[in-house]
Amino acid sequence: MDSVISVKNLKSYYVSSIFGKKITVKAVNDVTFDILSDEIVGIAGESGCGKTTLLNVLLGIVEPPLRVFDGEVLYSLGKNGDIDILRLDEEKKLQLRWQVVSYIPQGSMNILNPIRKIKKIFFDFAKSKKNLNKKEFELLLDQRLEDLKLPLRVKDSYSHQLSGGMRQRVAIALATIFKPKIVVADEPTTALDVVMQRDIIDLLGEIHENEKNTMVLVSHDLSIHSNMSDRIFIMYAGKIVEIGETEEIFEEPLHPYTKFLISSLPRIGDKSLKESVPGKPPSLSDLPEGCSFRERCPYAMDICEREIPDLEWKTSDHAVACFLHRG
Ligand code: SF4
Repeated sequence: MDSVISVKNLKSYYVSSIFGKKITVKAVNDVTFDILSDEIVGIAGESGCGKTTLLNVLLGIVEPPLRVFDGEVLYSLGKNGDIDILRLDEEKKLQLRWQVVSYIPQGSMNILNPIRKIKKIFFDFAKSKKNLNKKEFELLLDQRLEDLKLPLRVKDSYSHQLSGGMRQRVAIALATIFKPKIVVADEPTTALDVVMQRDIIDLLGEIHENEKNTMVLVSHDLSIHSNMSDRIFIMYAGKIVEIGETEEIFEEPLHPYTKFLISSLPRIGDKSLKESVPGKPPSLSDLPEGCSFRERCPYAMDICEREIPDLEWKTSDHAVACFLHRG
């Protein structure tokens, strides 16, 4: 499969100053990967590991104090060639956003203006992106609601009249109304109950299946990835430490951090005590020398204190950054 987004040696840090002291938070710390056409990639890791910052940079949203220090984010746009999103001006980025790449942010249901009816929210949004007359807009909206099996009556509702799950479905319909080639979602099921989570996962799965797009899904919840993602990228302290197909990540995780994440998941019928990842992640503004996981790792060796392990491909589709697997 062809690559749709290609990230090379990306370094993106928050730089600020407190009482005259410069603070550099290495949220995305030299990452390289490809996202392929028509796949769902899940990015997993504990809170604060840099997942959301990585998503923002993938979208070209880099606002101070965040800065890009190195690397590129290439979008492959077929006959239009490759575009480095980080080197586009704001106007060109806005042209791409929603029509080529769209974003479902955390708590996206809160983006629905409570004092406007859903129809008006969609109309304002669509008008700002495309030159549509009222009839074209009505057709587009009805078609989208129908595609996503949403009742047409939601058009005349205010967001507060809808349930949390329905609001999230409407927000997803809004973000994907132009059927973009790439959909990026940040914790799309946060704040929903288990039944609604299932509903939103199914909806995203249907959009992916029917529209043959590429999805990048950030969630700290590995069970969401097990249901949705084709491949999983495990992120730790600003780095990608393991990449693999979902089944392989669950059955044969290689990185000690991934092993802890998997073994801490509850399983039906298994009453054994679950072990969570010991200790705390390091501060991204004060990373230790060597491997960032070494202070929590039961297998740490001398070399782990001195050197940072590179992400190495062990097979054509499984990569890990750990000296235990150095080839
Ligand atoms: Fe543990 Fe060393 Fe591997 Fe890091 S490189 S995960 S410290 S064994």
